[in-house]
Amino acid sequence: MSDDTDRKQQQLKQKLLERLVVLEARTGRITGDLRHESHPVEQDFAEQATQRENEEVLGALDESGRRELDSIRAALARIEAGDYGICRRCRQPISPERLRALPTALECVRCAA
Ligand SMILES: [Zn+2]
Repeated sequence: MSDDTDRKQQQLKQKLLERLVVLEARTGRITGDLRHESHPVEQDFAEQATQRENEEVLGALDESGRRELDSIRAALARIEAGDYGICRRCRQPISPERLRALPTALECVRCAA
């Protein structure tokens, strides 16, 4: 691996780690809300219904956040393993443009299409 590639990967890794921290903080808070850790269940029926609706929205956020967390963790694991930026299907390098746009990409443009 060239020094330049190594430096770029370190920058990407830093970016991924920052994103990971943000997401973990957010999903942690959302999960806390769902468990009623931050506020007790409302007794009033109407308010309970509103709270349930809010929880459905939070649940969706939680799900997409979790998916993103998984893909970031996978990308970080690939950086550690030294096969980051290599298409998992055809084993060819993924273009730098694609990785800039989608740092968690696991496949090259051709295989993903
Ligand atoms: Zn490929």
